[in-house]
Amino acid sequence: MVTKVKVVRDILEVNERVAAENRSRFDATGVRVVNLMSAPGAGKTTLLERTISSLGSSLRMGVVEGDIQGSQDAERIERAGAVAVQINTDGACHLDANMVATAVAELDLAALDLLVVENVGNLVCPAEFNVGEHAKAMILSLPEGDDKPAKYPLMFHESRVLLINKMDLAPHVNADPERIERDARTINPEIEVFRVSCVTGEGLGGWYDWLRALQGG
Ligand code: MG
Ligand code: ZN
Repeated sequence: MVTKVKVVRDILEVNERVAAENRSRFDATGVRVVNLMSAPGAGKTTLLERTISSLGSSLRMGVVEGDIQGSQDAERIERAGAVAVQINTDGACHLDANMVATAVAELDLAALDLLVVENVGNLVCPAEFNVGEHAKAMILSLPEGDDKPAKYPLMFHESRVLLINKMDLAPHVNADPERIERDARTINPEIEVFRVSCVTGEGLGGWYDWLRALQGG
């Protein structure tokens, strides 16, 4: 048991060192980086497609796509008009700093204003691994349920932004966005919350403003 704890700590220490190297590279090239996390199916790729079509003319965007396998999401991002690099983790349930370092070596960072790292769909360990990002953002889709902040607090604690997605489904699901927002703020009083629908576009203006502000700060 003691050994296992030590191994986990060593892995996280190595990850922190590589994350700091990634961060230096991002800062040297002037690109701002967001680590986007959620459970599978919450709408990460769909949010990015909409974001690229709305902001793509003013922000040069790139995406690192993390998936256990396949490249469907990277293809969607390219069709939306941004550069994409696919990471296949081959079973691993989160991205770490080393994987992101390998992926960003494929990108001309100086040609980007904003790089989004779309993490593997998982509400648990992606929050434990910094990849060198300037900010973590997360999506919780309303149909996943309003108990998720209480059950998976670390991700809400680590994220600067919470997008409550699929608000268009609110009449059809038994989940209270007020409770999600209240519980998320109890865990993380600083968190910015946007209630959105990536189908209708509702609420996305706040997210776009937040991304633009990140460029300045
Ligand atoms: Mg995706
Ligand atoms: Zn994991």
